[in-house]
Amino acid sequence: MSEAKIAFIDLKSQYRALEKQVKARIDIVLEHGQYIMGPEVKELEEKLAAYTGARHCITVASGTEALLISLMALGIGPGDEVITTPFTFVSTAEVIVLLGATPVFVDIEPDTCNIDASKIEEKITSKTRAIIPVSLYGQPPDLDEINAIASRHGNLPVIEDGAQSFGATYKEKKSGNLSTIGCTSFFPSKPLGCYGDGGAIFTSDEATAQACRELRVHGQSKRYVHTRIGVGGRMDTLQCAIVLAKLERFDWEVARRIEIGQRYNALMDAYGIIRAQQRPDRTSMFAQYTVFVDKREALQSRLKEAGIPSAVHYPVPLNKQPAFQHICGPTDCTPVASQVADRVMSLPMHPDLSFAVQKQIVDVIGS
Ligand SMILES: *Cc1c(COP(=O)(O)O)cnc(C)c1O
Repeated sequence: MSEAKIAFIDLKSQYRALEKQVKARIDIVLEHGQYIMGPEVKELEEKLAAYTGARHCITVASGTEALLISLMALGIGPGDEVITTPFTFVSTAEVIVLLGATPVFVDIEPDTCNIDASKIEEKITSKTRAIIPVSLYGQPPDLDEINAIASRHGNLPVIEDGAQSFGATYKEKKSGNLSTIGCTSFFPSKPLGCYGDGGAIFTSDEATAQACRELRVHGQSKRYVHTRIGVGGRMDTLQCAIVLAKLERFDWEVARRIEIGQRYNALMDAYGIIRAQQRPDRTSMFAQYTVFVDKREALQSRLKEAGIPSAVHYPVPLNKQPAFQHICGPTDCTPVASQVADRVMSLPMHPDLSFAVQKQIVDVIGS
């Protein structure tokens, strides 16, 4: 079998460009030896808070942990309902169930694949405690509308799952700082990745920030004083150091992602290939570049033969996954998500992708 020549996500080129900075940063940590909660943790938190405009950033062990700790900070538990989208990575809904609460799935917009804000209100009940919209493929959903709905219903907290959207904007504001709480992930393949697991929580609310800080270290307010039940959810100093090194090229990467996404759009439109849409009042990080296709399996094999990797984000909406089937029962509570799941296909996308390779990819799909 010949190996695919084109990378789906090219972390090697990124490392080549940042090798010096990454090695220097790692070396400093190895020398000072503060592997847990070392100075790079605070440095990164300050830089990321400033980047997003949120008052506080709390780094945590992963994007999943960011979502879990956020819900814990809000006191969500058994009997509570949390509104979210079924068309996302499993973590978004998994953390709700882990705390004994129930995810309530709202269907998606067929063109952006983000939660359909116009369908949220009808799902709010006396048990609703929070809304988790996901900035899918790197593009925030209509957060003005979602925040307005939340405030009409007793100031429900809104947690943006921005695991795919760090760097994106919505009406000039940065992802992470668009609602009560923003969560992101530094999983290596995300727009801002480390070399392992990592994540962060953003908020401008003092009490929420303090709760998150305590929750990530076993509910500890100071050494051996445990004010609440927490988790072991810290991000390693080394991983923070790696993100700090990657920040040096991040503005360039953000600009490249937007440019490459727009080039894909133009190529797709020229062939009449239907693609996920972006709204004019926001930017996408194009964490995934996604098109809608028929006969997906056959097309994926054709791409593979041409040395082009592809993926599906996501093949099954969460409400149809065995672990979540009890929530909606046998009826399909989110038919748009089901239709979209059968048709989506993601293509190679990373800041070092060349125009020539993009053209080659789109030519295979369009021919
Ligand atoms: C990747 C991802 C997560 C989980 O992040 P991890 O760091 O892998 O735990 C959560 N939500 C979405 C939408 C994601 O894409």
